[in-house]
Amino acid sequence: MRLDKSKEVFDKTKRYIPGGVNSPIRAFKNLSITPPVISKGKGCRIFDIDGNEYIDFVLSWGAMILGHCDPDVVNSIKEVVEDQIAFGAPTEIEYEMAKLVCETAQIDMVRFVNSGTEATMTAVRLAKGYTGKKKIVKFAGCYHGHHDIFLKEAGSAVAELRLKGIDEDIVQNTIVVEYNNLDSVEKAFKENKDEIAAVIIEPVAGNMGVVPAKKEFLQALREICNLLGSLLIFDEVITGFRLSLKGARALYDVEPDLITFGKIIGGGLPCGAVGGKKEIMQCLAPQGNVFQAGTMSGNPIVMSAGYTTVKKLKENPDIYTYLESLAQKLEGYLAKVFSNSNLTFCINRVGSMLTVFFGVEKVENFEMARMSNLDQFKKFAEYMITNGIYIPSSQFEAMFLSSAHMESDIERFAEVAESFAKFVK
Ligand code: PLP
Repeated sequence: MRLDKSKEVFDKTKRYIPGGVNSPIRAFKNLSITPPVISKGKGCRIFDIDGNEYIDFVLSWGAMILGHCDPDVVNSIKEVVEDQIAFGAPTEIEYEMAKLVCETAQIDMVRFVNSGTEATMTAVRLAKGYTGKKKIVKFAGCYHGHHDIFLKEAGSAVAELRLKGIDEDIVQNTIVVEYNNLDSVEKAFKENKDEIAAVIIEPVAGNMGVVPAKKEFLQALREICNLLGSLLIFDEVITGFRLSLKGARALYDVEPDLITFGKIIGGGLPCGAVGGKKEIMQCLAPQGNVFQAGTMSGNPIVMSAGYTTVKKLKENPDIYTYLESLAQKLEGYLAKVFSNSNLTFCINRVGSMLTVFFGVEKVENFEMARMSNLDQFKKFAEYMITNGIYIPSSQFEAMFLSSAHMESDIERFAEVAESFAKFVK
């Protein structure tokens, strides 16, 4: 695969943008290939400026559940953009979007922001304002955005960095415990009695690779929070509207106090949201005194793209059945391919989110993910991408499927994975 033009543009960009990217994971820092510079996306395919075509299993990190440039989403943007770009004032589409999101995800109230990071920041501030407590519990390997409070043993691109610039005074109120390990949660609560405002968790983690929480673990978190007067926040920035209309919590039958959204909720445009129980949500300014604001929050173009996406999912819930069956097939194919090789591996999958780990048989937390063969994953990612299968460049990310993927796309993935398995032998 030739990436000459991509390399040229990427190198030129580095002159003006640190590392050539506006978000670190895009730089392929742990791979030896240059990141393809993308010029077009249609359905489940993306195209780079060198003329290469890829089947996309990254999907803007999970956002594009309907595939790229879904005609309905594109039309909804076109319809709005002629008359409404930004006002910083109320618009009717905000009402329509809020009603749709609340009814679909079954929450009382919602506040729209511009990113997942803003959503989680706001959720934590709300929890602190509501409870009057100052500490939070988070889990190693979970990523909740780039605010200081979350950058402690975080997954995703943070996993491979030694961080600087974090305010230690702020971070000392963040207690990190082990995912799927109730003892470590109980210990944190014992040591910080009456000080914990919230426990924040990705109910299905996507930022240490895919790692699902155990049902009894999430249920126990709910009980502990109830007992000790802390809020439970589900960070569903990835899983919201991906695993079901009600997100991951439908799978676990555990109700958090607050939920954060991002990615899918904006239909591919910059958006995040925090939602949940009315009693807590109305603490937000101007109704209450927990401050949050945003010049662009609830932007009409974003609301319109998000509305069309969520509405389409709501009106076609069979999309989730389709995604499940497609992802099940992909998991099956990959399990077969790697079982026939001499590679040790483990596949974690929940719905249309999936990760392959090499060199380990089980991954239930960040430590186990880190123990996997990262070098083998790097070879896998490089091989897949250079053979037209666009997957995350890092082990600590998830692969995603969209409703635009077809069975033939999955088969192609399996074929390339098979030739990789032969290649590394
Ligand atoms: N929470 C989770 C679970 C995420 O995966 C991410 C981003 O990947 C975020 C929060 C932050 O979202 P954003 O990148 O939109 O700020």
